[in-house]
Amino acid sequence: MATDQMRNKAELIFIPSPAVGHLASTLEFAKLITNRDNHLSITVLSIRFPYTPPDTYTTTLLASHPQIKLIDVPQAEPPSQEVQKSPEHYILSYMESLVPHVKATIQNIVSSYPNPVVGLVIDFFCVPMIDVGNELGIPSYLFLTSNVGFLGLMFSIQKRQIEDVFSNSDPELLIPGFSNLVPPRVLPNACFNQDGGYVAYHKLAARFRDTKGIIVNAFSELEQDAIDALSDDHSPPIYAIGPLLNLKGHPSPNLDQAKHDLILNWLDEQPDSSVVFLGFGSRGTFDPSQTREIALGLQRSGVRFLWALRSPPTTDNEEKNLPEGFLELAEGRGMLCEWAPQVEVLAHKAIGGFLSHCGWNSILESFWFGVPILTWPIYAEQQLNAFMMVKEWGLAVELRVDYRKGSALVVAEEIEKGLKHLMDKDNMVHKKVQEMKEKARKAVLSGGSSFISVRKLIDDMISS
Ligand code: UDP
Repeated sequence: MATDQMRNKAELIFIPSPAVGHLASTLEFAKLITNRDNHLSITVLSIRFPYTPPDTYTTTLLASHPQIKLIDVPQAEPPSQEVQKSPEHYILSYMESLVPHVKATIQNIVSSYPNPVVGLVIDFFCVPMIDVGNELGIPSYLFLTSNVGFLGLMFSIQKRQIEDVFSNSDPELLIPGFSNLVPPRVLPNACFNQDGGYVAYHKLAARFRDTKGIIVNAFSELEQDAIDALSDDHSPPIYAIGPLLNLKGHPSPNLDQAKHDLILNWLDEQPDSSVVFLGFGSRGTFDPSQTREIALGLQRSGVRFLWALRSPPTTDNEEKNLPEGFLELAEGRGMLCEWAPQVEVLAHKAIGGFLSHCGWNSILESFWFGVPILTWPIYAEQQLNAFMMVKEWGLAVELRVDYRKGSALVVAEEIEKGLKHLMDKDNMVHKKVQEMKEKARKAVLSGGSSFISVRKLIDDMISS
C-alpha cells in the first residue's frame, strides 16, 4: 500500500448552489478537505442565477484559501415565465440548462490540470450534473446542506409516482429515519406544488441513488438511527461530517462595521442569558400584520430582544404597522437590525434563546452555542426541521411547526407565551441543548464521529 507521502495529488470539483444557506457549509467543507489532506486540491464552480449580481460571497470566503480555485460557469438563458411558479422548478430548470456549460468547464479542467479529477461534489439542486460526471468517468458525491431526516423524505419521494403530489389531507407518513409518523402539514411547500414544484423534487430525488456517496452536514450523535434506517434501505454510503459552520460569520451588504459594533456593544451591556434573538434566515420576511403581532408579543413578554427584521423601521411606527411606542421600547430593552452577525450573536453570553425559522445552518449554530430554539418555520424544508427539533429530538420549544406563507396569523398572546416558555431556564429543553452542544463539538474534534467520517470519505474518494 502506498504511504501517505507517495500518494499522488488529486482534484475535486465542487458545484454548490448560489444561496447563502448552501454556499456556507459547502465552502467550509471544501476548506476542511484541503486542511485535512494536502494531496487533494479543489476547484469550485461558481454558478450565478439570472438577474443576480456577481457572487462576492464566495470570492470573499475563499480569498484566504489560495489552494481552492474558483471558476465562473457561464450563464444560461433564464427559464420561462411558466417555470417561475415554483422556486424549486425554476432552480432545477436553470441547473438543467447549465449542464452543457458545466460539461465544457469540467472538460477544460480535466485536459489542463496536472492531477486527475477524482470526484464531483454537488449540491442537492445540482444533481443534473451527475450526467456530466458519468460521461467523463468521474464519480459524483451529493453534498446535502440539510439533515438525514430530509434525506429520508427524498428517499420516500423517490418511491412515489411523479404525479402523486402530496395533499394536506393525506394520512400521516411513514418516512425512513423518523420514529414518529410525519403529518403532511410539515412537508416542504414543493411537495404540494402542482406547478412543477413536486415534479422537481421527484426528479431530484430520483438521482440521489446515482451518487457514489451522500455527504450530510449532520452528526451521528444526532441522527445515527436515521443513518442506519437509510443504509438498510440501500442508500449510497452516508457520511455525516458536521456540524460544519462558518464561524467567521456571513458577509452582507446590510451589515457594515459600525452596525456590527452597535449590536455587539449593546449585547455587552445586557445581563447574561437575558436576550432573545429573533432571526429568520436569509429570506424570512413577514407581512405588516404578522410583524405587528411579533412586536406586540415582544412588548407583552417583557423579554429583552434583538430582532433581525428585514427593512427595519427607522422613524415611523405607523408606516411599518408597529404598535405605538414599540421603537421607544426597542431603545430601552431591545434592538432592531436588518442583518445580524448571527454567529457572533448566538455566541454572546447575553443571548438566552433564539426565535428561529429553523433553517438547518441556524439550527446547527444554535447547537454549537447551546442556545435553545423557539420554532417558527417559514420556507424550504424548515417545517420538517422544526418537527424534528420538537417531536423527534425534544431539542426545541414549539411555537409552530407548520407555519408557512399564507398560514393563520401567529397572534401576540401565542408569541408571548412561547417566549416565556423559551426563556424559562427550568425548561428541560435547555439542559438537552447543552448536552447536544457538547456532542456537536466533540463530533468534529480529532477522533470524533464526524472527524472519522471525513477521513473515510477522503480515503474512499482517493481509492476510487
Ligand atoms: N444569517 C446571518 N444573519 C442574518 C440571517 C442569516 O448571519 O441576519 C446566516 C445564519 O447565521 C446562517 C445563514 O445565514 O448561517 C442562513 O442559513 P439557514 O440555513 O439558517 O437559513 P436560510 O437562509 O438558508 O433559509
